Amino acid sequence: MSKAQDIVKKMTNEEKALLLSGEDFWHLVAFEKYGLPRIMVADGPHGLRKQPDKEDHLGQNESVPATCFPPACTTACSFDEELIFKMGEALAEECHDQGISVLLGPGANHKRSPLCGRNFEYFSEDPVLTGAMAISYVKGVQRKGIGTSLKHFACNSQEHARFLSDSIVDERALREIYLRAFETVIKKSQPCTIMTAYNKINGTYCSENKRLMEYVARGEWGFKGIFVTDWGAMHDPVESYKNGQDLEMPGSCKGTDKRVLAALENGDISQQTLDEHAARLVELILKSMEAKKKNVTCDMTAHLKLAQHIAEESAVLLKNDGLLPYKPTGTFAVIGNMAKHPRYQGAGSSKINPYELDNAYDAFVSLGVDFDYADGYKRYATEPDDALIREASDTAKGKDIVFVFAGLPESYESEGYDRDTLDMPPAHNKLIEAVAAVNENVVVVLQCGSAVTMPWKDKAKAILLTYLGGCQGGKAAVNLLLGNANPSGKLAETFPMKLSDTPCYKHFANDKFTAQYRESIFTGYRYYDTVEKEVLFPFGHGLSYTTYAYSDLKISSESISDTEKLTVTLKVKNNGELAGKEIVQLYVSHKKPSVFKAAKELKAFAKVVLEAEEEKEVSFELDADAFNYYNIRIHDWHAESGDYEILIGASSRDIRLRSAVHITSAAECDVPDYRGIAPSYYSLPHTDGILDLPQSEFLALVGKPLPERRAVRPFHLNSPVFELRSTFIGRIFVFFAKRIGTKSLVISEGDDAEKMVDAMIMDLPLRAIGMSGSFTRDQIDGLAEILNGHLIRGLKLMRKSKS
Ligand code: BGC
Repeated sequence: MSKAQDIVKKMTNEEKALLLSGEDFWHLVAFEKYGLPRIMVADGPHGLRKQPDKEDHLGQNESVPATCFPPACTTACSFDEELIFKMGEALAEECHDQGISVLLGPGANHKRSPLCGRNFEYFSEDPVLTGAMAISYVKGVQRKGIGTSLKHFACNSQEHARFLSDSIVDERALREIYLRAFETVIKKSQPCTIMTAYNKINGTYCSENKRLMEYVARGEWGFKGIFVTDWGAMHDPVESYKNGQDLEMPGSCKGTDKRVLAALENGDISQQTLDEHAARLVELILKSMEAKKKNVTCDMTAHLKLAQHIAEESAVLLKNDGLLPYKPTGTFAVIGNMAKHPRYQGAGSSKINPYELDNAYDAFVSLGVDFDYADGYKRYATEPDDALIREASDTAKGKDIVFVFAGLPESYESEGYDRDTLDMPPAHNKLIEAVAAVNENVVVVLQCGSAVTMPWKDKAKAILLTYLGGCQGGKAAVNLLLGNANPSGKLAETFPMKLSDTPCYKHFANDKFTAQYRESIFTGYRYYDTVEKEVLFPFGHGLSYTTYAYSDLKISSESISDTEKLTVTLKVKNNGELAGKEIVQLYVSHKKPSVFKAAKELKAFAKVVLEAEEEKEVSFELDADAFNYYNIRIHDWHAESGDYEILIGASSRDIRLRSAVHITSAAECDVPDYRGIAPSYYSLPHTDGILDLPQSEFLALVGKPLPERRAVRPFHLNSPVFELRSTFIGRIFVFFAKRIGTKSLVISEGDDAEKMVDAMIMDLPLRAIGMSGSFTRDQIDGLAEILNGHLIRGLKLMRKSKS
């Protein structure tokens, strides 16, 4: 018997039930008599957000100073597993320093639409890349004994109505796209915890989803750790615990233990289930006690340097008509308030209080050369300010080169709501146009957490995408512009021409209760490349100050069985005088699949370091995974026999080498041909250029009808706040909820307060008020009764004292 099981054996059921719900916002319950201290968890993912005093899950209250590394949208562009590993180690060192046992990250959700307000926290539109980055993150953090929390499991690809939304996804899209990264991370790095998402998948809340937690994650993938809810994602404790959820966070809504004990009594939760959950939690506490014994040092200066290095390795040079790198010998101007006040991270629960924050303006000043500066737009402002634009144009006139810092202001992207446009604010677009009208040597330096449109693309001679550069992004940007660092990042997502080109355009965040993943597996470049849609910048694109030549593609065999391995080699040569790094991408294309498939899929990549004029051999070893799709008949992965092509590219649209290979499936099986039930998925029909897949075919893929919409009345714990407005007493409740909500959200300057309150509070389920710690579950039940007009019954419940 393990030590944890031994302790659980000694615990009473009351104690075990208490353990299953946190003590407060960030702590697990302690049992000193069993030698189990209080351990603390904290956000994540790209820095440590430890809140010593007032707590919240939206990044509103103070947290201790920490290194703010660039977030996932940025780091993914490095395609550098070693670098992410190092970042993970550094994050763990800060956790040790601050007494944190579990860091809440990484986020492995798939970027379904560039509009998702939280895309800055996610890696990619490709699950292989997301998986690789998240694996390195988990390994780096956990190597130092700190736990991670792989989140948000799963299909949490929008912020809109995230507590209510039901992601309707067909099995292949689920397996091949939305669960794929989670699967590889669990199999290859065994994260200590997994955070279940707020939403439902195909009718069942993630935190109650036995199939997801027990059968798939534990059963198929061998997950050994703890399922913790996202903060406030436990909808019904009994349903959660009996279906696999181990821990409710936060634990501020008291009374969960009583429900567990009642369920144990009536047989809804078995003794074995309770003991298993408790043993896993005890195990986590014991492990973190062990980790605390490690002598781990924390060097914040080294972490700042690492943050800068990561920003340099991750920035993407989107365009360069030979203007960059710039040697500061002539006259130049720096324009744009973001040069002084960078947008360097996202908003919400991942908002880090940076230990030190730099900016590009100061980095230019430190060069000791003269340059002119103009704001160009007001900080946070979205509408153009003509006077500032005039001043900027005057500053730009006659200069040898002009660096314009622009992008998405704070209010455009946040946890809690999605963007409604791909466009940058008019204030920024108009500024770029105006400056480009008076000076033809314009370099745009972009700060944003997701793809944007660029109506001025042809007028800028160079575009450096720094995404969100973290707390040392200023120095990093200037180093890249001056050529002290050679850009090597490549896009981890496609930049489409316009919003209506995105494959989920018609079905993204257009309903509060269901999110139809109508486009199935055709997300990101899988869609754009299949239908050959013109894009602004393709997946995998990124330039360097040198160029690379690809040659000599060889494969170990032209015909193999899917039980054999295929070795692929090629040569990459640095053609130039500067050292650099090239990200070589390997895609696989299936020539005549029976199932519908994307034109190509990324299967492997390598970041190759090359001195000037150096040539290196790059080698990949592919197994069946590279040719597999998810076969819903056999409930497993399968490589169909047939002709495939290995494509080696500098981006998904820049394929440099190709080679054919024939795969023979060792175990032939029934291969579904969806042409009968879903023919459109083989032709991808469009109306006015917009992907338009019929609902009937989509539902045939899903295999069941859309869930029926629940009646608004009677209200219950999961009734969203906005629905309560249908009664007088409900309207009073909503009025106060909004007022209290507005007060409790510390709205920082630049935040769109109205938008945040509306999006975050109106869509919350009634039971979310429990997160404040001021109500027990019984009391919230009482509130629901009152809202339903049962005043006496409700008051009785409300009066029940807090446990
Ligand atoms: C977020 C999680 C975060 C948690 C705790 C939630 O709102 O979705 O990612 O870890 O809050 O702050």
